[in-house]
Amino acid sequence: MTIERAYMDHNATAPVRPEAAEAVARVLALTGNPSSVHAEGRAAHKIVEDARVAVAALVKAKPAEITFTSGGTEAANLALHAARNALGIRRIVLSSVEHDAVRLAAAHSGLEVEVLPVNENGVADLAALAGLLDAPGKGGRTLVALMLANNETGVIQPVAEAAAMARAAGAFMLTDAVQAVGRMPVDFVALGADMMLLSGHKLGSPQGIGALVWRDELAFEPLIRGGGQELRRRSGTENVPGIAGFGAAARAAARDSDAYTRIAELRDALEAALKAAVPDVRIFGENAPRLANTSLFSSAGLNAETLLMILDLDGFAVSAGSACSSGKVARSHVLEAMGVPPELAKGAIRVSLGLANTRAEIERFVQSWARAAVKARAHESDVKTGAPESASVRAAASSAVPA
Ligand code: PLP
Repeated sequence: MTIERAYMDHNATAPVRPEAAEAVARVLALTGNPSSVHAEGRAAHKIVEDARVAVAALVKAKPAEITFTSGGTEAANLALHAARNALGIRRIVLSSVEHDAVRLAAAHSGLEVEVLPVNENGVADLAALAGLLDAPGKGGRTLVALMLANNETGVIQPVAEAAAMARAAGAFMLTDAVQAVGRMPVDFVALGADMMLLSGHKLGSPQGIGALVWRDELAFEPLIRGGGQELRRRSGTENVPGIAGFGAAARAAARDSDAYTRIAELRDALEAALKAAVPDVRIFGENAPRLANTSLFSSAGLNAETLLMILDLDGFAVSAGSACSSGKVARSHVLEAMGVPPELAKGAIRVSLGLANTRAEIERFVQSWARAAVKARAHESDVKTGAPESASVRAAASSAVPA
């Protein structure tokens, strides 16, 4: 019997949208370097510039403020490099729930790093930000980094408020909008940010393409030097197929923005069913504004690694908090920052939904998770006590999970 697969890991990467696949295929059939002056080169240049217009429109920025990069991680490293070298930034205040792309870029940037705490819902503490911005003599040389939506919990941060505080203190504001774009309205100007990170593959472009949005009045300094592409901000022949795919995905995402109402209903149905199946389930960030598609939850005595294997065998592609490059489940710094005890954090499973998910998949998933939880709990207690699985638990688990 083949097991039906249900992909519910859109925060790790989303399926390539048909419009993006078609745009990539069209480019692959062409030849032309966007820097060449002949007709083929001019055609490639036009593809890049059309995509720039589409990506800029999705986040309400100016096309000239978009620099295409290889993704969100490169955009983060480029932003910190340019902030330090062109804006004279010496200190970064970053929230404790930032993605590693920002955390590790900051740790290796040569900037003084200070951490902005979050509350138990995962929302940045703006009173603490006020204190950090008040540091005598440091305000104008500070960059505040606060992501728009968290990749693990989906929690939406008060970026506009933080940006207003940063601006009043003469500091600059960076927001990582990688998870937010395409899943909620994003307005670069209304947010008041100076720089913003984007990644195409979370909204349906191929992987390996993203952008840095950099406010146009601000000085800039490139990280990658060479032929001077991307208005001298990022050298190297452009990834024309990736850029075309990103532009097409951005247009499609703008068109589909209403779909997120339906996705919110699915996420709410998922959470209601989880609570009905396992009353002690804890949904992280539940009381904060969240992305419509994301739910991160756990229950005592579970181990996410075991759960993921069982759920995968049952046909579900989900994740344990953040996707980890080594394939191992690392401890979540996000849950730690929210004060979640390690015992609960280690069983956390993230479901991140997309346009194709259905109510039937949600129902199947909840049954599978509840049954997998029985197995995973039994496995955990055997590991702890060294005892063989109890006959009753084994019977419950094997009867519950369909082969
Ligand atoms: N920022 C956030 C919030 C992310 O979720 C990710 C990817 O998971 C990144 C940055 C890095 O983006 P990319 O995969 O395009 O390098």
